[in-house]
Amino acid sequence: MSPGFSSLNLVLLGPPGSGRSTQAALLAERYRIPHISTGDMLRDEINKGTTRGLEVEEALNKGELVNNTVVTGLVLQRLDAEDCTRGFVLEGFPRSAEQAAVLDGVLAELGRGIERVFLLELSDDEIVRRHDNRQVRREDDREEAVRERLRVYHAEGPALIDYYRKRGQLVPVNGSRGVDEVSDVIRQAIETPVGV
Ligand code: AMP
Repeated sequence: MSPGFSSLNLVLLGPPGSGRSTQAALLAERYRIPHISTGDMLRDEINKGTTRGLEVEEALNKGELVNNTVVTGLVLQRLDAEDCTRGFVLEGFPRSAEQAAVLDGVLAELGRGIERVFLLELSDDEIVRRHDNRQVRREDDREEAVRERLRVYHAEGPALIDYYRKRGQLVPVNGSRGVDEVSDVIRQAIETPVGV
């Protein structure tokens, strides 16, 4: 655990393909906190083959957002689990200011809050270039789905980013650098007390 925190609640924001999930996994390992990825949770729902899974699959394949009730339900249930009491790294959620407000409300009820919100910044050109270089493609990596995911990100992103900026929680990070460099910047921001 990093100095100064009794629990370490982190949020990782960034466009699709910005390395969010790689960085979240590194943080989870370093601070021994669970990596909560809504993308992974939703893909698990699809694999279960339930009716809800089919609905989720349709949205994912199109690159659209899954409905709020389903996503927030999954996240809130997960945050309530025992292994989240020492902290968590939430990745892929929130994706809108509305989801951010729901998250804050729930954490406040538990007497908790978010310590840091990292925003991985990457241009659309760089995202498309990274996507073209990927060897293995998921169904939601098809070109139209990627374009739609970017469109959704640009539609919902500004209000979401503003939400955290206004609260003084946002830490923008240049996501175009290598994995290790990005991870070092994030680690330093966590381990440097606010105001120093
Ligand atoms: P990701 O793996 O985080 O890029 O998410 C893959 C897909 O899951 C997204 O394109 C959305 O369709 C869906 N998804 C993930 N997180 C959320 C969320 N917080 N709200 C709505 N849909 C989501």
